[in-house]
Amino acid sequence: MRVSLADLPLRDELRGVQPYGAPQLDVPVRLNVNENPYPPSVSVAADMARAVAEVAAGLNRYPDRDAVALRADLAAYLTAEGTAGIGVDNVWAANGSNEIMLQLLQAFGGPGRTVLSFTPTYSMYPEYARDTHTAWVAGRRADDFSIDVPHALDQLARHQPSVVLLASPNNPTGTALGVDVIQTICAAAPGMVVVDEAYAEFRRAGTPSALSLLPAHPRLVVTRTMSKAFALAGGRLGYLAAAPAVVDAMRIVRLPYHLSAVSQAVARVALANADELLAKVAELRADRDVTVDWLRSLGLRAADSDANFVLFGELADRHAVWQQLLDRGVLIRETGPDGWLRVSIGTPEEMAAFRAALEEALSAGTGGIKGSTIVKAQTTR
Ligand SMILES: *Cc1c(COP(=O)(O)O)cnc(C)c1O
Repeated sequence: MRVSLADLPLRDELRGVQPYGAPQLDVPVRLNVNENPYPPSVSVAADMARAVAEVAAGLNRYPDRDAVALRADLAAYLTAEGTAGIGVDNVWAANGSNEIMLQLLQAFGGPGRTVLSFTPTYSMYPEYARDTHTAWVAGRRADDFSIDVPHALDQLARHQPSVVLLASPNNPTGTALGVDVIQTICAAAPGMVVVDEAYAEFRRAGTPSALSLLPAHPRLVVTRTMSKAFALAGGRLGYLAAAPAVVDAMRIVRLPYHLSAVSQAVARVALANADELLAKVAELRADRDVTVDWLRSLGLRAADSDANFVLFGELADRHAVWQQLLDRGVLIRETGPDGWLRVSIGTPEEMAAFRAALEEALSAGTGGIKGSTIVKAQTTR
């Protein structure tokens, strides 16, 4: 006997909800989920395989529940990046920063509590709120996607959130927040302030990390991931840095043995090879800046980006443009405010394919730049 979802006693707020996720399509050029386009080298992949083989011999046993060796390596990485005072007790790791974020809301959100963020931002945030029965409140970002401090302070006073979620650099806009903004929000927030730095390694020179604020703000949490710059999206490893008391809270809500021995071993090999895995970050940042300039030269708006993607618009019909790119084998992301699209920075060959496809799509005339004929003139040769 078959039942449909409608027949099951699903929670009311989950009825009719579609699972989150960008389309996973098998096309030649995939620039839609902000992955690092460069896979690990044969030698790093072989080291990972060796580490997994060693771990495999002991898989009858549960893994280290507290992932101490991995957390020590992560603390050493943040220290090498220039943050002082980070030790193993300041770091917690989980299956992607998505799990970190869920654990944070499990510990600090919950019924009768509110999480505040500022949109457009990462589309998973309202889902963590829903899944933890935390009320979701979205303030808005300014026209340039920055956070307007008086508006933020007003939202804080009005909603008294137990958690504030700030993505910096923000997804899908690429916008990094100044430390002054984060400091002001920390000073006014009644609860936890979480700065999601999934794209930290891609920030432009002179853009500081919120890690430097940790000593002064005990309720500040900075989350990171190995999915983006580290080229380890498939390994599922995210982490946070915060006061040791925050790590104690994570230990209470985590599932027992949440992080597999295989995940821990693979991530440790990746960290031991950080120089190699991060080697392409400088090139990706440079290509991002070139992409922003190129999009603007077409007469489009492109948001300043401190990440490995660029949000651009405004298109009269973004879905038509997205589809035309897909028809040419280039998958980008239909996300952000209406009229905007997001492209991840790929290899030079992938970016050339993107540029050619976008020029063709825009000169084909459907869905082009809002209120403008510039594109036609510029792309007809
Ligand atoms: C990609 C991304 C993450 C990372 O997710 P993982 O679970 O670590 O793969 C976190 N936050 C934002 C804003 C992201 O774009």
